[in-house]
Amino acid sequence: MAYQYKTFYSYDDLKGHLLTHKPGFYHASKTSTVIPYDKIESFLNWGHRDDFYICDLSGLPGHMELLSNSNLVVRGAVSWEEARKFLISKGRTLKTSPTEQLALITAGVATSCTGERCFGFGTLRSQIARLKYLNFNGEEKNLFRDDSFQINSSHLNPYQAGFQHYRLFKNAPYPRFENATDLMIGTEGQLGIVTEAELETADNEDVTYLFILLPRWEENYEPHMEIFGAVQAHRQSILSCEFLDANCMNYLKPEERLGTNQDVIFLEVKSSAFDNIYRRVLCRLSLTSQDDVFKIPENKFHHVRAAAPQAIFEENSKMGVVKVGTDAQVTADKFSDLLNCYREYSRTGVRYCLFGHFGDAHLHFNYMPSKEEAARCEDELERLYDKVYAWRGSPFAEHGIGLLKQKYIRRFHGLNQLGLFHDIKKEHDPYNQFFPQGFMGQVIK
Ligand SMILES: Cc1cc2nc3c(=O)[nH]c(=O)nc-3n(C[C@H](O)[C@H](O)[C@H](O)COP(=O)(O)OP(=O)(O)OC[C@H]3O[C@@H](n4cnc5c(N)ncnc54)[C@H](O)[C@@H]3O)c2cc1C
Repeated sequence: MAYQYKTFYSYDDLKGHLLTHKPGFYHASKTSTVIPYDKIESFLNWGHRDDFYICDLSGLPGHMELLSNSNLVVRGAVSWEEARKFLISKGRTLKTSPTEQLALITAGVATSCTGERCFGFGTLRSQIARLKYLNFNGEEKNLFRDDSFQINSSHLNPYQAGFQHYRLFKNAPYPRFENATDLMIGTEGQLGIVTEAELETADNEDVTYLFILLPRWEENYEPHMEIFGAVQAHRQSILSCEFLDANCMNYLKPEERLGTNQDVIFLEVKSSAFDNIYRRVLCRLSLTSQDDVFKIPENKFHHVRAAAPQAIFEENSKMGVVKVGTDAQVTADKFSDLLNCYREYSRTGVRYCLFGHFGDAHLHFNYMPSKEEAARCEDELERLYDKVYAWRGSPFAEHGIGLLKQKYIRRFHGLNQLGLFHDIKKEHDPYNQFFPQGFMGQVIK
């Protein structure tokens, strides 16, 4: 028995399929790092395979429109890259910029995607003014950010109270469920299909990209932490604060590498605020020399920054191993503890690299194991989730839970979380047709 595969090129076709109520998994560009696409059939583990549909949404007609209030409406298969180019041609730009620009925006809503500019502009979740989705009957529904989340469940109030602790995190261990739009944000396609989103945009202001060379974090991360502290008060002017360690540089061609066996922090600064940031942040650093601060062209920044995650993605496929990496975000006071933990991991003798959204205390430690080393690395990283739990951090702040991270998320979900998932699933997915193996579907009795 084989799974059924279906690609949708029209909304009518998709609506018709939803009305059959057949269970399925709906994907877009397949860049999720928590869905093992090359082994998806064994991970979905569905008994009656010929009744289960793996559905491709990337053929749905795409459409973009800039509204008079400067919000961008995106419908169907539109990638972040396409939307950015469209907006720039109109003097605007996106407030969210995930490193993987080929991912689709509607999927980004489903994964509550974030990215580099989250440092300056906050989360995608807060930038979505309105969205549309197809429900289990193939009906298209509108949701508005200004409406509150509605469900008849005794778990809602305690759930929302529990979420308060995570308000300032990019993503909590569970979705927000506060505004009406939250029904589709971070619920990973378990409640319907996102078809359209209206996103806030920003002025396409001139920005200056800088990079700062630093010693290797494994030996001394004090200079890094000084920068971390210094940028926090300048989120209005510094749009992103990203990190690649010295190991990441090895994935670039020798002539493209920055520094010599050094770590790099990148800053994306509004050019109008550059002098101020130079005086108030860079000149005041006592552990970093001004000689180690350089400007870098925008395209080179994007190329270098994207190289590390893309190389890991490709290398893991080549080695036939599933990604062994972290996505944890912690509060500023726990950031040194997180780095100490990663430092321990760096000593296990397996190749690794560290990169990510430094300004938000949100880094991805990745092992680059051989097939033989993969299980040991998994065990090592598993210990991290005990610590993140104790620190009250968020274990998966942007890449989501998917199929790969479910075993690690369980301890973060108590009775109120599981109870609310159950009630929401029952109301919005009564036939259990949307990604029944997802983290919300597990509790359906
Ligand atoms: C190199 C690299 C860098 C990355 N950088 C970032 C980053 O900076 N920030 C970040 O957040 N993520 C990042 N990611 C992860 C990934 O790009 C995001 O999770 C992205 O949102 C997935 O988009 P996709 O189109 O590939 O979705 P897919 O992988 O196709 O699907 C992802 C999930 O969304 C669901 N889904 C897809 N479309 C819909 C829809 N229309 N309606 C309902 N559910 C849907 C699917 O069921 C699945 O659960 C990165 C990944 C890679 C490989």
